[in-house]
Amino acid sequence: MDTPPLQAGLYIVATPIGNLGDLTKRAAEVLSACAVIACEDTRVTGKLLNHLGIKRPMRRYDDHASEEARERLLAEMCEKPVALVSDAGTPLISDPGYKLVRIARERGIPVTSLPGPSALVVALTLAGLPTDRFMFAGFLPSKDKARGDALTGLAAVPATLVFYETGPRLVDSLTAMAQIMPGREIAVARELTKLHEECRTGTAEDLAAHYTAHPPRGEIVLLAGPPPAPPAPEEADVDAALRAALADMSVSQAAGSVAKALGLDRKTLYARAMELK
Ligand code: SAM
Repeated sequence: MDTPPLQAGLYIVATPIGNLGDLTKRAAEVLSACAVIACEDTRVTGKLLNHLGIKRPMRRYDDHASEEARERLLAEMCEKPVALVSDAGTPLISDPGYKLVRIARERGIPVTSLPGPSALVVALTLAGLPTDRFMFAGFLPSKDKARGDALTGLAAVPATLVFYETGPRLVDSLTAMAQIMPGREIAVARELTKLHEECRTGTAEDLAAHYTAHPPRGEIVLLAGPPPAPPAPEEADVDAALRAALADMSVSQAAGSVAKALGLDRKTLYARAMELK
């Protein structure tokens, strides 16, 4: 491939999560123009490069690499363009690269990130759950107690929760979700961008029953919609709060204060406070 020379530095390159057609033109250009490709597994990345007809030296790298290996890579990117890829998807998203980017930036080494596939974004855009606010929480712990603690810590977060999951652990996670975050809308997005892509939604209980009967294969993203809004307070409770506030506040202040505390409309409360006064 005939591509213009690249500047020295680190290039974060996202690669397909199942469908090779999802590799961007820019990703292919950078992979063919870089001097070195740092990757998690040279066999996995070697297959991708073969498919693209690209031959480049590869260096095995992950965040547990020795200080020495990381320093070698950092020294290389001061002199020439070095690409970082993971086995699939976007590096640094539950994949290696964080330490490398952090140190490269501290040292003033140019870092460029090429956008591309990531299972979390594909799942989120497919599941039909709210996307205005979401929290990606990586993999849940594998042990029951730690998984339960993690879910308990996240249950009140007012956002769609996104987890990476594995087939053998899916039912345990769904069962824990049914107990710890009951009533949530759950989605299981499986084998995204591949032949057997599936996105199934429902309650955690129903999905646990389904996947107990049909043990899931392949790669999985598990999502939980935001917690349900708390029930509106009873009229009598609102009146009691207004009366208490009116004891030492003006009508306007009392309406404002109770509206804020109970998450209600200030104008409506002002009208009610006028009646109660
Ligand atoms: N960095 C990758 C990304 O950007 O998506 C994720 C790497 S993480 C080690 C691997 C996990 O991502 C899998 O266990 C699975 O939870 C999720 N995943 C990756 N590819 C997927 C796919 N095609 N369908 C569903 N989930 C996928």
